[in-house]
Amino acid sequence: MEHRPFGPATHPVSVIGQGTWQIHQTDRRAAIAALQRGIDLGMTHIDTAELYGESETVTGEAIAGRRDQVFLVSKVMPSNASRAGTISACETSLARLRTDYLDCYLLHWPGRHRLEDTIAGFETLIQQGKIRAWGLSNFDVDGLQAAWNAGGANRIACNQVLYHLQERAIEHAVLPWCAEHTISITAYSPFGSGNFPAPASSGGKVLQKIAAAHGATPRQVALRFLLRHPSVFAIPKASRAEHAAENAAAGWLDLSASDITAIDAAFPRGKKPRALPML
Ligand code: NAP
Repeated sequence: MEHRPFGPATHPVSVIGQGTWQIHQTDRRAAIAALQRGIDLGMTHIDTAELYGESETVTGEAIAGRRDQVFLVSKVMPSNASRAGTISACETSLARLRTDYLDCYLLHWPGRHRLEDTIAGFETLIQQGKIRAWGLSNFDVDGLQAAWNAGGANRIACNQVLYHLQERAIEHAVLPWCAEHTISITAYSPFGSGNFPAPASSGGKVLQKIAAAHGATPRQVALRFLLRHPSVFAIPKASRAEHAAENAAAGWLDLSASDITAIDAAFPRGKKPRALPML
């Protein structure tokens, strides 16, 4: 599994991680097995959130006894993101996850609380040893700039945003701004959250052709396309162990420049939308 520095820290993190939103909904035991298989295969970057509720508990069960192998990320809900609320939400997440620290803690999306207050909560949590870094999610450039101004230079580890083949809006401004400021991009819903290009579609055929040439699968090709920029990480959610194994195997896939050009043409970036898309 390839690793890259995450944000301004030099600590390397697996480029492909594991999402946990609704992971347990069909089969809780299978979800735990999938997460554990993923960790075994190097997908040690694990994403959860206060909002995901029981998924945090399931994640805690999956990482029990191997906390030190995992880069664990959770998120505070914007409605709780006052200074005191951020600290208290983090403590609740830590209890559900059965750990005493998070590797990174994010504001789930911009909300009504002042960014200065949320960031003060994050910085207090760092001083208390409860989180190691903090970041944002679903932030457009204006919000990123405001957080940069409020928090100071080189404090924002990442911006977790919607990014998949059929939703490339971040490439217009968010991705370049983050790269310039050494802020990692974590691509959420990298498979379109259940809307992956069908094999019979024109884009699906392009993916299949490239995958066949590499002895890979269309989803592995899709992940590597997103990871072509060095500041990007991806967190697909797999509630089945065989899916986790397939995703982990993309950890070292190498696409050629002509593969990238073909995918770029099959899934065009499109025009810059007025607002940053999010789920
Ligand atoms: P996703 O990862 O794009 O897609 C998940 C779907 O893909 C599931 O149906 C899953 O099936 C399937 N899948 C995964 N690997 C597969 C494989 N190798 N072969 C076939 N199917 C496969 O969707 P997502 O859950 O929306 O996004 C991923 C994570 O991003 C979330 O879990 C969450 O942690 C994070 N997220 C963050 C935000 C935010 O606002 N910050 C918003 C949305 C999501 P199975 O489950 O059956 O394996």
